[in-house]
Amino acid sequence: MKIAIDIDGVLLDLVVNFCEIFNKKHGTSYSKNDVTRWEFFNDWNITEEEAFEIFFQIYENTTSVPFIDETAPDFLEKVNRSHEVYILSARASQYRDQIIEKLNFHGIKKGEQYIDLILVHHKPYASKQDYEFDVYVDDNPHLADAIKLMKDRHLLLYDQPWNQNFICENNIIRVHNWNEVYEKLVFINFKLNL
Ligand SMILES: [Mg+2]
Repeated sequence: MKIAIDIDGVLLDLVVNFCEIFNKKHGTSYSKNDVTRWEFFNDWNITEEEAFEIFFQIYENTTSVPFIDETAPDFLEKVNRSHEVYILSARASQYRDQIIEKLNFHGIKKGEQYIDLILVHHKPYASKQDYEFDVYVDDNPHLADAIKLMKDRHLLLYDQPWNQNFICENNIIRVHNWNEVYEKLVFINFKLNL
């Protein structure tokens, strides 16, 4: 299988840093759990452009972003041995070096845990659908909406406060950690080979 692994919300907890920067700037006390939808910036009274100014700031200096699940590199290596694993992210391409350095630091290396890193534009929200994969591991409910209509593809929706309203069924499966990601990949592979 060809598998696409997202970065933010699946490997890295970018939103934690977003809240810190936002709170400092606006005197608020938001935390990750207050990010209850993809377009959360509309609830927080800033424009999408202002939100992306903060995101770009984090992309530039990304070393302090928390890593979500320390078991991810081992599972990725295992999966990449018998499947084709790609990292598919909507981070801006000018920050490619920073993200590769960050992934390397956490033991996610090209040639071991993944074949290549593909960076796509963050708009439209489901633009990753233009890259054909058998399985996507992603936290983006808009991508899940798009993949839901493509019955030959699957998406493992990584559980996050901003995708709670998405109803997972059929080819969209909710996962909560990397052990579950691995289990569901084995399950999908089994199903596809029946
Ligand atoms: Mg993401």
